[in-house]
Amino acid sequence: MFPPSPSLQQIQFADQKQEFNKRPTKIGRRSLSRSISQSSTDSYSSAASYTDSSDDETSPRDKQQKNSKGSSDFCIKNIKQTDFGRREIEIAEQEMPALMALRKRAQGEKPLAGAKVVGCTHITAQTAVLIETLTALGAQCRWAACNIYSTQNEVAAALAERGLSVFAWKGESEDDFWWCIDRCVNLEGWQPKMILDDGGDLTHWIYKKYPNMFKKIKGIVEESVTGVHRLYQLSKAGKLCVPAMNVNDSVTKQKFDNLYCCRESILDGLKRTTDVMFGGKQAVVCGYGEVGKGCSAALKAMGAIVYVTEIDPICALQACMDGFRLVKLSEVIRQVDIVITCTGNKNVVVRENLDRMKNGCIVCNMGHSNTEIDVASLRTPELTWERVRSQVDHVIWPDGKRIVLLAEGRLLNLSCSTVPTFVLSITATTQALALIELYNAPEGRYKQDVYLLPKKMGNMHEYIFLGHFLDEYLSEEQAKYLGLNKNGPFKPNYYR
Ligand code: NAD
Repeated sequence: MFPPSPSLQQIQFADQKQEFNKRPTKIGRRSLSRSISQSSTDSYSSAASYTDSSDDETSPRDKQQKNSKGSSDFCIKNIKQTDFGRREIEIAEQEMPALMALRKRAQGEKPLAGAKVVGCTHITAQTAVLIETLTALGAQCRWAACNIYSTQNEVAAALAERGLSVFAWKGESEDDFWWCIDRCVNLEGWQPKMILDDGGDLTHWIYKKYPNMFKKIKGIVEESVTGVHRLYQLSKAGKLCVPAMNVNDSVTKQKFDNLYCCRESILDGLKRTTDVMFGGKQAVVCGYGEVGKGCSAALKAMGAIVYVTEIDPICALQACMDGFRLVKLSEVIRQVDIVITCTGNKNVVVRENLDRMKNGCIVCNMGHSNTEIDVASLRTPELTWERVRSQVDHVIWPDGKRIVLLAEGRLLNLSCSTVPTFVLSITATTQALALIELYNAPEGRYKQDVYLLPKKMGNMHEYIFLGHFLDEYLSEEQAKYLGLNKNGPFKPNYYR
């Protein structure tokens, strides 16, 4: 499943363009902030994101902010947004019953007592519920964003107000991105015990800058395909020095987050950015894994004609069985109205494809990294870029043809829409359980390798599939008949 293992140096880290110490000029950072804040559609992005226009011009790095307790160990857009952020978090809590149940059950035991957790995830209301759950279970957390666009500023404010050391804002530059990660890790006297990562950038940063920290780190919990891939590469190269939990491949994450979450949020992201009508449109979805299956199903349900490209014969066959036309990208590129990448791969849509697209074609990515569409190839003198809305660029060819590029090729749903809280609750609960498992595992249970969360762990079924839905499990007689334990797990580890 994973390609041969290169050495650590060979591993490419998609977003790593520059290091934070090569800090861009104030003007450079300001111009990014201006282009985002001046858009007419700012309120579309990342839930009800709220922009305080009075201080949009100032980078959070240049501001002195304190929460009401006097702490300034955070860097966010605007601490005054805390009330709004708190309401967002409370709304999310309503749709996160599994995580709230875990919080309620385990806060007496404090299974993460003393765990210093450094995290790098999207900073949304849902992640805030996870972070506050970890805190309720005894952890001390420091947090950065894993994507420069996906932070809900008001949520970051609410977290900072409650004392979380959070370093993130919507519209960070690449330089800010690494600076924020470094601020989370690099604090005198603060040695992380656990890493919670989404995409592998935080893990990479610690490997690169503070390798000695791994001597005291008990484990890594990684959520994304991309980050997990990197962990397997490290493991195969014999360079993984702590146990890691692969949350992405847990059945609970894959079936719900990747599939159902994307099924709902692809339409939301496309609508908010373009107001496009789906019925009758022709779309091509690159990659028919879990994310591709969700995107294809959603578009088909809205009346779009959907083509699929795949490299894997099983997924390709699944696309056929599900009624999609399996094509090569080059066959349909001239006629499609929407192109969506969700392969986790790089250079899936290249300049040659972009040159051949028809006028008005919408191009976006649902994969984790901004590597799937070769956006850099569009930054050539003959093409004109026009920012028409927040996260929407028209790229115009000399003959007047324009394509509509969303979120500059970064993942669409987390950059331009919200994602369903319920599915995120399932992933977040899996992450919390993985942290608890790694942190409390007796010496020797986990080696320096990548693991899946054990099915039985922490009576996970009850938390994740919700005890309040399933108040009765199997009868003794039925359990015996099926050869199962009465309280689960009810499916084998290989179940997908
Ligand atoms: P997956 O491995 O199940 O599916 C990816 C598919 O792409 C595979 O079937 C693979 O064969 C195919 N593929 C690879 N290279 C290809 C190419 N050049 N052309 C066509 N097909 C190709 O992974 P997944 O769970 O579907 O995740 C895909 C990406 O989406 C990952 O980067 C993941 O991190 C990301 N993701 C995004 C979200 C989101 O909310 N947007 C949620 C979960 C995962």
